[in-house]
Amino acid sequence: MRNPRTTRPGRVTPERPGARIAVRLKGFGAQSLVATEPIVSTLRHLPESHLQGLQEIEYDPERIGQKAAGYFLPPRVYTPLPNLRSAAEYLPDEAKIVVYEFDSPASLYELLFHEIGHHVCRHVISGTIRKHWVTQVHPREPAVSPQGSRNALEDFAEAYALFARNPEQLRRSPAKHAFFRDEIFRSNGPKAP
Ligand SMILES: [Zn+2]
Repeated sequence: MRNPRTTRPGRVTPERPGARIAVRLKGFGAQSLVATEPIVSTLRHLPESHLQGLQEIEYDPERIGQKAAGYFLPPRVYTPLPNLRSAAEYLPDEAKIVVYEFDSPASLYELLFHEIGHHVCRHVISGTIRKHWVTQVHPREPAVSPQGSRNALEDFAEAYALFARNPEQLRRSPAKHAFFRDEIFRSNGPKAP
């Protein structure tokens, strides 16, 4: 029997007994910018349901080279802050996040929240809520970032990442802030002791 209060390094497991979410972290031992434990504890601050079905988060810098050789399509180049170079990708069919490149803990968390936002939009929320975002909330206000201006799904991921890091960051888009507060993060109540 597993003690749900014990977190093994390399896995994100819930604190709440009875929950069954466990995301495998793979490959992060190959870098020294961020230890596994802070990644685990950061992800545990998200609502548990947001990680449901997410199979794996892998750090795989080698795939950048493979992509260049033509085995993969180029990754989305994501520049959330000036002077940061980072890239990651959400693979929806595998429910997997691959992190290719980051240069600080902050840039890693920006990437992870953005890609988890894609997972939440694809696999966690209902079609009704997704449609509400695409047809009503997203068009009502300007995109929350240049990346978000690409389309409704990128704007969802960008807004998700802003709200996950600090809900106040989304205040300048009041409709989007209310949507994320009421529809996406409403289960994020106080954690059980
Ligand atoms: Zn994206």
